[in-house]
Amino acid sequence: MAWETVIGLEVHVQLRTRTKMFCGCRTTFGDPPNTHVCPTCLGLPGALPLPNAEAVRLAARGALALGCTVHEISVFARKNYFYPDLPKGYQISQFDQPLATRGRVAFESPERGRIEAGITRLHLEEDAGKLLHDRFPGKTAVDLNRAGTPLAEIVSEPDIRSPAEARAYLTTLRQVLVYAGVSDCSMEQGSLRVDANISIRPPGETALGTKTEVKNLNSFANVERALEAERTRQIGLAETGGRIAQVTLLFDAGAGEVRELRSKEESHDYRYFPDPDLPPLVLAPGWIAEQQAALPELPEARRARLEADYGIPAYDALVLTGEMDLANYFESVVAAGVEAKMAANWVMGDVMSSFNETGGFPVGAPRLAALVTLVRDGVVSHQAARRIYAELAQHPDQDPRAAADRLGLVQVRDQGALSAWVDEVLTAHPGEVARYRSGEAKLMGFFVGQVMKRSQGKADPKGVQPVLHERLSRR
Ligand SMILES: [Zn+2]
Repeated sequence: MAWETVIGLEVHVQLRTRTKMFCGCRTTFGDPPNTHVCPTCLGLPGALPLPNAEAVRLAARGALALGCTVHEISVFARKNYFYPDLPKGYQISQFDQPLATRGRVAFESPERGRIEAGITRLHLEEDAGKLLHDRFPGKTAVDLNRAGTPLAEIVSEPDIRSPAEARAYLTTLRQVLVYAGVSDCSMEQGSLRVDANISIRPPGETALGTKTEVKNLNSFANVERALEAERTRQIGLAETGGRIAQVTLLFDAGAGEVRELRSKEESHDYRYFPDPDLPPLVLAPGWIAEQQAALPELPEARRARLEADYGIPAYDALVLTGEMDLANYFESVVAAGVEAKMAANWVMGDVMSSFNETGGFPVGAPRLAALVTLVRDGVVSHQAARRIYAELAQHPDQDPRAAADRLGLVQVRDQGALSAWVDEVLTAHPGEVARYRSGEAKLMGFFVGQVMKRSQGKADPKGVQPVLHERLSRR
């Protein structure tokens, strides 16, 4: 039988601050263990937390970008549990009075077209440290550099209906947060982590089935794979009369399987209570309005503007705005004088390949514009321009025209040179010449190809055809 899948996602994003949530320690990634710690983030007796104003600003900004209501009063609460990466024995989070509630993410579902998923809440919290299992044989070490790093937890409504839809939601959510400047959302550095809740129910049923939670997913592809695996497991259980238990699962990406971490029955009661060291967080309505007004152009608006202002297809606008840096680069290339569709083709082609590989732009926008102009003016062929692009990517200081000269890729339109190549080709292929003259017109392509080959790609194909016509019509 068919089952409906119901998914809700909890996303933790690291806010882009220089220092931690409640102390002045740096949030730098990749430094030697325990070099960014102090009495506060180590939880030493007597140390007091002081909220990071920039973290509050970024979280509010992210909430507003997601259409949430930011509350004038929110409350920091202690979430109590014992784990070696949590020196205080509790995590400072927000519980019954979060920073923001009720937003939405509009995104393109692969199955249902354009839809919206509700955001239940966005709250501030601090991260825990990290356990290192590979530093010392047989021992576990603790690195507290991450402890106290500011996070926003973003909880969605159970509005998502398939694993592929979960991935699309996450892609869009990430775009919004990056555009808003809230987080770099780098999954490699752990600044975006996902916990996914999933249940199934017969179609038409409105009550939710028993859900399971897949924790700590570290890539969007793995979110989709893990949810596929868990959906299959739940349907298998349901159809063989088994009972779906409320459990927490981990995804083994290597095996493509989920396995049980712990059952909810033995899970913690966190005993939340307001942190006595932190007064309620009070935000002035005027300040909230300022944050709203300061929001930059978000992906949807930019997509619409690129389509309208540059007349590029909707698909191109969608791809270009997928990464803010890519959209910026595209606009710089157009500003440097390149026709918009031509610029879009380049940015979605070779430029995007190098961006995906390196995360940057080896060839600056003005240089790419100069290169594209060479193609437009017929100085080099499109094929040659791609070779020059690869060359510029290796040696960014070069001028495109100089590189074309050096590589011998400037197209030859000189009639004398073209005539000489044409004559050589016709002399070398008397049989084909005779067949062409007796009516096999399709051999023209063969002759053009031979001339291009003989000129090592330098002949301007537009100039070659007329010369060939002229020679072949002579008897
Ligand atoms: Zn600290």
